[in-house]
Amino acid sequence: MSASQRLANADGLITELASIVGAGNCLSSQSETASYASDGRGLFAGSVLAVVKPATTEEVAAAVSACARAGHPVVPHGGNTGLCGGTAPGRHRRDVVVSLERMNRVRKLDIANDTITVEAGMILRNVQAAAAEADRYFPLSLNAEGSCQIGGNIATNAGGNAVLRYGNTRELVLGLEVVLADGSVFSDLRGLRKNNSGYDLKQLFIGSEGTLGIVTAATLRLFPARRQIETALLTLASLDDVVALYLDARQHAQEFLSAFELTPRIGLTMATQHVPDVVDPFAEPHPYYVLLELSSSQTRVGLKDILLELLERNLDAGRITDGVVAGSLRDAQSFWRIREGCVEAQRIAGPSYKHDVSVPISAIPGFINSTRATLELAYPSATIVAFGHVGDGNIHFNVCAGDMDREDFAVEQHAIEELVFDAVLSRGGSFSAEHGIGLLKRDALLRHTAPAGIALMHALKTALDPACRLNPGKVLRSPAAPNRKQDHASWSERT
Ligand SMILES: Cc1cc2nc3c(=O)[nH]c(=O)nc-3n(C[C@H](O)[C@H](O)[C@H](O)COP(=O)(O)OP(=O)(O)OC[C@H]3O[C@@H](n4cnc5c(N)ncnc54)[C@H](O)[C@@H]3O)c2cc1C
Repeated sequence: MSASQRLANADGLITELASIVGAGNCLSSQSETASYASDGRGLFAGSVLAVVKPATTEEVAAAVSACARAGHPVVPHGGNTGLCGGTAPGRHRRDVVVSLERMNRVRKLDIANDTITVEAGMILRNVQAAAAEADRYFPLSLNAEGSCQIGGNIATNAGGNAVLRYGNTRELVLGLEVVLADGSVFSDLRGLRKNNSGYDLKQLFIGSEGTLGIVTAATLRLFPARRQIETALLTLASLDDVVALYLDARQHAQEFLSAFELTPRIGLTMATQHVPDVVDPFAEPHPYYVLLELSSSQTRVGLKDILLELLERNLDAGRITDGVVAGSLRDAQSFWRIREGCVEAQRIAGPSYKHDVSVPISAIPGFINSTRATLELAYPSATIVAFGHVGDGNIHFNVCAGDMDREDFAVEQHAIEELVFDAVLSRGGSFSAEHGIGLLKRDALLRHTAPAGIALMHALKTALDPACRLNPGKVLRSPAAPNRKQDHASWSERT
């Protein structure tokens, strides 16, 4: 096709898209589309032909079908809080971004079934609020909940702070509605807890990062509202003590244990330095801090007694060195601010390589201690911040540039990543526990997955999206043209 034919084709597509979603919801000038031209972290940037904002599943389907006929790629766009470059378009101004932001309604609340059916563009916090209004609890919770969308959560199989009790997003989804690569619609929003009629198709789309279909609606599990919450911030001297405390808390508090979050001293120091409302409640510094939360939907259980007994036992055993129990919601929020502030502070402090990994819980102390020691020896000016969801074995093992020369730091990215990943994999862990693959970890996926696994993923992609139009180049290199110079190859990649 000549350049002029290609331009006419693109203009025709924009006109068709505008007729589907309405002219005001089809953006095509560079100034209008600029904010959709990179991922949320600004790691990857491209160029967008058009941004469409459909209001219904039918409009999503018609837009995707128009793009398929015109041969243009489609990039699904949620709240753009993903951390792996999944929303970045290609660089040839061919991609059509489908933003779900106008699909933000509750479709159905079924109290008897304890389910809620919502559109994909609903902000996670609004899903939680809709559940709370119905005296129910939707447990998915993460620091980006004020801006990420439930469709993005499903597309990335988001984890978050309550996985140890309620599971990942995958465990919370009972039904899905998805627009496929040719514009047809797969819909099963029945919200059944038991259904063995053939393959469980919804699971294909959960965690597929927009490469197999565009999620337009979901039926989600609800839980009884929480009536009691007890939160404590505890200090510990070693990671062995952290894991021993976790095992005891799990045994002692059982199903009431709903969060167990680790922050190291360096994380708290950075948070108090860079984030104004983070306060260290302790007079002395401590090597490790654990935020422990118990919660219950029952009022007849004495949650405070369970917590105090647990703390007393572990103080006596010498595992806990100090601690504070929240006396109010405000106290509890200030403890959570330390955990959130640890993340914010790293962003403010400068570049860092974020490794979102998991290992068996028993391997956490060995993994963190030995990997940190190796890195500190190799890069004495860098700062290691290893924190996260101990109860899921999910550690955010971040290497911050610290005082290291920025150019030297940039050169070492691959070596640092491989060192961390080798340490994880040799302990039976995963190099990507929560945030997914996107563009950022695509090569690592290829390096660290058995050929049979990669072949299966390509087979699935080819079966569902033979022309590779849905979020091409994310998760996997294009199976349709594996030797072609990739769209994303020359994108700028920074930390
Ligand atoms: C401060 C902060 C804290 C975070 N904490 C956590 C955490 O604790 N746990 C965790 O798992 N993640 C965490 N994240 C990462 C991020 O918030 C999650 O990955 C979130 O689920 C992404 O949702 P989103 O709507 O922003 O998706 P986006 O960033 O818009 O998209 C992410 C991917 O999903 C695709 N996508 C988006 N919507 C759809 C759709 N409707 N259908 C198909 N594909 C779609 C996109 O193409 C892209 O590939 C955090 C991020 C930040 C900034």
